[in-house]
Amino acid sequence: MTNIGFIGLGNMGGPMAANLVRAGHRVTGFDLSAQSCEAAREAGVAIAADAPGAVAEAEVVITMLPAGRHVIEVFGTILPAMRDGALVIDCSTIDVDSARKAHEIAAQKNCFSLDAPVSGGVGGAQAATLTFMAGGATEAFAKAEPILLQMGRKAVHCGAAGAGQAAKICNNMILGISMIGVAEAFVLAEKLGLSHQALFDVASTSSGQCWSLTTYCPVPGPVPTSPANNDYKPGFAAGLMLKDLGLAQEAAQTSGAVTPLGEHARAIYEHFNAQGFADKDFSAIVEHLRAGRD
Ligand code: NAD
Repeated sequence: MTNIGFIGLGNMGGPMAANLVRAGHRVTGFDLSAQSCEAAREAGVAIAADAPGAVAEAEVVITMLPAGRHVIEVFGTILPAMRDGALVIDCSTIDVDSARKAHEIAAQKNCFSLDAPVSGGVGGAQAATLTFMAGGATEAFAKAEPILLQMGRKAVHCGAAGAGQAAKICNNMILGISMIGVAEAFVLAEKLGLSHQALFDVASTSSGQCWSLTTYCPVPGPVPTSPANNDYKPGFAAGLMLKDLGLAQEAAQTSGAVTPLGEHARAIYEHFNAQGFADKDFSAIVEHLRAGRD
């Protein structure tokens, strides 16, 4: 049993904290939203009056927050209240620079730290099947791994501070680009009189094969579990895809990487979001392309 502090009990953090309670840990949490706190309380999380109160006794602290500015603000608030030598794991998806700054804040208090964003979405958070990609010292990862594996089924140590966020945004840039590629192929196939199933049967066993096609097919039919069969209910919302593609472009600019398809994918999702589809699954981009937009 470990004393765990958990800040950010939203769509992802709530079920992750609940899984830690189920695993036998004493979890004390805090969120600005009373509704999130109440749901977590029902799952067995003790709710503190504020963020420092949630971490004071903790050996391990986990944060799951919207963006870099929230993480920096919360780290500034909680680190003075944390025990020396405790471990803080930020699982939010944030920019690499903020992630590195968060590590620096933790180091000033002699705390171990990891950036450990996740892949797997709300379903993965509920089912404890997330994949964690972690950046930080080897010792910090060794301490964190058993806890991470109670919220997920895989944890990869990607390298030093910020490496987890770097892996996350590179992976999601591939995902955004590949989903648009697969969706464009289905739209072209429709124009050419080729059935969805025929394209799927060929491409899923040929060189066009990829996750966006075989697991998350953007048209209904070929993969019955994909969001296309459920009116594009997320899954992974287009708003979050736009966030991640924006983070990838920020990182490309600051590092000098040339990523023209990543930028084009970001612009396409920006247009899609601006038309009011931020809450649709990101694979609904096929409808946007079919309507002749880009
Ligand atoms: P969410 O908006 O549901 O939850 C974030 C929570 O943080 C909210 O409940 C909010 O009240 C709380 N919060 C914000 N500032 C706070 C503060 N200062 N102190 C305490 N609580 C504060 O978002 P989510 O879907 O849970 O996503 C969290 C993170 O996980 C994001 O970085 C997101 O990009 C990432 N992520 C989300 C998914 C997904 O499918 N939802 C998948 C992978 C990664």
